[in-house]
Amino acid sequence: MLIDTHCHINNIIKPTFDVLLQKSDFEKVRNILQEAEKNHVTKIINIGTSLIESENSVALAKTFPNIFAAAGIHPTDLKPEWQKELKQISKLVKNKNDNKIVAIGECGIDKYHQPFDLQRQKDGFKAQIELALENNLALVVHSRNAPEETLYSLEEFKKEIKRCVIHCFSENIDFAKTVTSWGFYLGIGGTITYPKNNELRQIIQTIGLEKIVLETDSPFLPPQIIRGKTNYPKYIYEIAQFISNLLGISFDSVAKQTTDNAKKLFEID
Ligand SMILES: [Zn+2]
Repeated sequence: MLIDTHCHINNIIKPTFDVLLQKSDFEKVRNILQEAEKNHVTKIINIGTSLIESENSVALAKTFPNIFAAAGIHPTDLKPEWQKELKQISKLVKNKNDNKIVAIGECGIDKYHQPFDLQRQKDGFKAQIELALENNLALVVHSRNAPEETLYSLEEFKKEIKRCVIHCFSENIDFAKTVTSWGFYLGIGGTITYPKNNELRQIIQTIGLEKIVLETDSPFLPPQIIRGKTNYPKYIYEIAQFISNLLGISFDSVAKQTTDNAKKLFEID
């Protein structure tokens, strides 16, 4: 059994962001889940990036037993009125059991996409860390080209944060050592298969499986075998296979350890 700990199914089936899913979209999701199951991917955490996409995430989780929701605002989606949006998201979170919300996110700092408002990103990140803590939820962190800012924001809460993943890990080994020493997980996906990504492969070899969860980030970041195409949750299988070859251990032990980690991270069975 495998778990896709970070995916945006709503963005696989509709081309535009911030529109609600239609009834007809749900049939497409059924197909995606069937394909995933054929590849042993039996649980999926669907991530929020804004209020509407968090609502979509909840709608998917409530419809499909294999899907769980994360709700939050991506750093590049923080609008000037983000606080209002987060208030609406916290209403969803109040009903976390009915809404099958297992995490807040993705939230964090992104200095890759220009232009950015760093203060707004820091404020939005802090507010979402607090929301996760108040509701005893896992935290899904996005950090891109922003190691210092992300660590600074997290460090303030490192003792309180019990369940956290740095998704699509792309920072360096020192960052990896620091956050894993705080008990956080690294989310590893298609980018580990990219020929140029020796740095990430070395990080995995150093950190080991105990601190890793698998993710596709689909429809984004397809593994090398389908580079340039749409990514799907079923490709967790390829990523697990790749890591098994990289570490020279059996596929089953990669599947078991990363699945156990994901279950602990999100408190799901
Ligand atoms: Zn994502």
